[in-house]
Amino acid sequence: MTSTWTEPTNTATALLLLGRGADPSSEKGVDCPGDLPAPSDPDLVARATAAKAKLGSKVFVLGHHYQRDEVIQFADVTGDSFKLAREAAARPDAEYIVFCGVHFMAESADILTTDAQKVVLPDLAAGCSMADMAQLQQVEAAWDALVDAGVADSTVPVTYMNSSADIKGFVGRHGGVVCTSSNAKAALTWAFERGQRVLFLPDQHLGRNTAVLEMGFDADDCLLYDPHKPNGGLTQAQLGEAKMLLWRGHCSVHGRFTKSAVDEVRMRVPGVNVLVHPECRYDVVTAADYVGSTEYIIKAIENAPAGSAWAIGTELNLVRRLGLAHPDKQVMFLDRQVCYCSTMNRIDLPHLVWALEELAEGRLVNQITVDPKTALEARSALDQMLALP
Ligand code: SF4
Repeated sequence: MTSTWTEPTNTATALLLLGRGADPSSEKGVDCPGDLPAPSDPDLVARATAAKAKLGSKVFVLGHHYQRDEVIQFADVTGDSFKLAREAAARPDAEYIVFCGVHFMAESADILTTDAQKVVLPDLAAGCSMADMAQLQQVEAAWDALVDAGVADSTVPVTYMNSSADIKGFVGRHGGVVCTSSNAKAALTWAFERGQRVLFLPDQHLGRNTAVLEMGFDADDCLLYDPHKPNGGLTQAQLGEAKMLLWRGHCSVHGRFTKSAVDEVRMRVPGVNVLVHPECRYDVVTAADYVGSTEYIIKAIENAPAGSAWAIGTELNLVRRLGLAHPDKQVMFLDRQVCYCSTMNRIDLPHLVWALEELAEGRLVNQITVDPKTALEARSALDQMLALP
């Protein structure tokens, strides 16, 4: 049968609200509550070094792969969001976990660390537009629609790590599981052993790419649930028939790579290997040679033969560092139109210096906390992920 499915256009991304009065408990940003050093201060590196040395083993700095070089140089460990949260949990002696990443990652670290540990996000405006695309009220309304259609009992919610703590809590409350881009197939397999359909949050592309390319579903089995339309824009019959209900969310960085960029780089660089992240659109992933998580991308470049050429579709900071670390290989960014993750890049050296100096003076700033009930429910969905085969 010929598929009637066509790639949907990107969801419009609202500009993040910045400035006083925004909600600090969401991924939306707020102003820095303190006096930031000037970006032009020539002593920033020395100040960060001194503050970190003064804190000693009381502080542990986590650096996500997409962070700027000026910040990454102070990270005690680098990794993807889940690896970093586990690294924090493995260091119960560190009183302060300074998370150079975005808000949902700091929440996960708070959930996985002890009550005595304080998780600090140097800039509260470092949110994630993908996480913002699934708000708890919207997800609860979607669940109500499934209840009305008589299919909630046979639906298992699965959320990507890149979601807020209250979405993870919702998923835990309804017997679901969290997944990463490395274990999405295992999570979906687990979910389909327990239900007839999956509500996949919040990244439609990871959900579709995994279901179709790794699990053999038809693209038409995956229906898009648009939280801005009544019943997600679907009939009750469609809600019941769908195997995968994909939340209409996407990453505002990976969702921008296009198939024409893949075609263009192949024309420009004969023999190039195209390697993309599964948050990219389906037509980009199917046009690429390799697809995998951030850790997969790093290992692929490490293991690549000298002289090979690679066009990579993921965040620019990581691609640039990979290029610098492997001068014997030709590492390039897949699409010159795509820019840095703007919210990740809000964590800069002035914010890191400010946070470390405040902590060194005994003042706890920008702490990220998850309320105990939400943390318990989210923990059950995270633990379920850890128990996946
Ligand atoms: S790269 Fe995408 S998923 Fe990651 S923080 Fe930025 S917007 Fe969110």
